Amino acid sequence: MKRSRINPVSNLRRFGKSKYGNKNYVCHQEHKHDSIFEGEYCDSLALLVKAGEIKSYKTQVTYNLMVNGQKITGHRVDFEVEKNDGSLEVHEVKGFADHVWPLKRKLFIALYPDIPYITITL
Ligand SMILES: [Zn+2]
Repeated sequence: MKRSRINPVSNLRRFGKSKYGNKNYVCHQEHKHDSIFEGEYCDSLALLVKAGEIKSYKTQVTYNLMVNGQKITGHRVDFEVEKNDGSLEVHEVKGFADHVWPLKRKLFIALYPDIPYITITL
């Protein structure tokens, strides 16, 4: 029998120290972020608010992914951005590959077609 090439230990890596910096990086708004990259992105959004380019933003917002009235899963996005016209965008900061995320992203896009889903990569 062929051995599986999937290493279960590699799936746990994201719970440890990330490649992009310490866990719980604290940004200038004093939120805890999972990576420096995410924290720096938060700081740049804060500057956009100050500059009046966007109205506001929230971190770690959970959307229910429902199909036919049944909750399949939740998707916690890194940032929900409210633009000056009142419309919303979600911004997901991805510093590493994640097995479940592509499916959640697809479900989100199908279920929330009015909210642009923007992925920020390094
Ligand atoms: Zn922050």
